[in-house]
Amino acid sequence: MRTERTKKLPLLFTQVIGSLPRPKFVRDLLAQRNAMPAARFKQQLDNVVRFAIGLQEQAGIDVISDGEWRRTHYVGEFLTRVGGFERCRQFEHHGEVKMTDVVVRRMQAPESVFAADAQFLVENTDRCTKFALPSPFLIAVRYWHEDYSRDAYPTLEHFTDHLAEIIAGEAQAVVAAGIDIVQLDDPALTYFCDRHLTAGEETHDERLRRDWNIDEQFPAALAAINRITAGLKAEVHLHCCHSVCKRRSDVTGDYKPILPRLADAKIDRVNLEFAYPNTGDVGDLALLPPNLSVGMGVVDVRSDQMPSVENIEAIAFAGTKFVSPERIALNPDCGFAPDAGEPPSIDEAYEKLCRLSAAACRLRERFLSKS
Ligand SMILES: [Zn+2]
Repeated sequence: MRTERTKKLPLLFTQVIGSLPRPKFVRDLLAQRNAMPAARFKQQLDNVVRFAIGLQEQAGIDVISDGEWRRTHYVGEFLTRVGGFERCRQFEHHGEVKMTDVVVRRMQAPESVFAADAQFLVENTDRCTKFALPSPFLIAVRYWHEDYSRDAYPTLEHFTDHLAEIIAGEAQAVVAAGIDIVQLDDPALTYFCDRHLTAGEETHDERLRRDWNIDEQFPAALAAINRITAGLKAEVHLHCCHSVCKRRSDVTGDYKPILPRLADAKIDRVNLEFAYPNTGDVGDLALLPPNLSVGMGVVDVRSDQMPSVENIEAIAFAGTKFVSPERIALNPDCGFAPDAGEPPSIDEAYEKLCRLSAAACRLRERFLSKS
């Protein structure tokens, strides 16, 4: 639901998706989490998160996050905090053999694992705040495997159920801490946009090989999301992107297969990617369910090319041909660094955010001078 605070956001407000690139100092700090006295670690991390907040404010962004600088990875941190996962499954990714976590024991979250992070963000800015949580479907398809997980959760559906219960508690806790916008990150929903993947063709990521069936799996994913968002006293966003790894996307495809199906989602806004080639097509917005608003990704976070303000403005303006500007927010395509090892520098992200703000100002002038 829109709240008193989010209703006051300007036309075509700007927002981040979540993560900012972590400078080496932050990456080193996160790596030393267990080697430092807890109080010292917290103090250092608080200091750098204040910097991440200040950077977004200085860039002129309306809705800000903590840069996800308390997490090494946008999902991994949640897994670590609730426990039950082990890095024991070998898989192939872009021809490279890697290890991935799988759930091997039941998760435990007697109290919220993110409430304190959310509270710090709220206490350190007067702008609208956003807190991102991973969605149950995303975690279920990536981290449940029949060879490892059956003792903990007999089926993927049992695992999804427990995830929805825990994440619902997290969402309630971050809203109680004062967060204005809760965003559920679900790049796995975008797998259904990739026609090669859903047709069962070869994929670069072994974890994505399964029988994709949008008629069965999509409603189940939405049911888990709706269980989390029901009655939440905050604006709720769903972020569907094409995943990012080392300046390229894991999957491709426009949003036509999934947009009409989001009519059943109990959310306020869906944040999508339009700047990166081979992802969303602005024309897909004709399929946006009328009950939903959109966060248009208008800045390519993967390319090291710096877009011009005019280029950002042009993508956003194209969107207003399909959806009224009152229903549009503007954001980068994705978080700048879902994983701490992602390449963009903090200066690159800052400059892109500054240009996003400048483009939003120009568009507001165009629309407000007309009315
Ligand atoms: Zn994303």
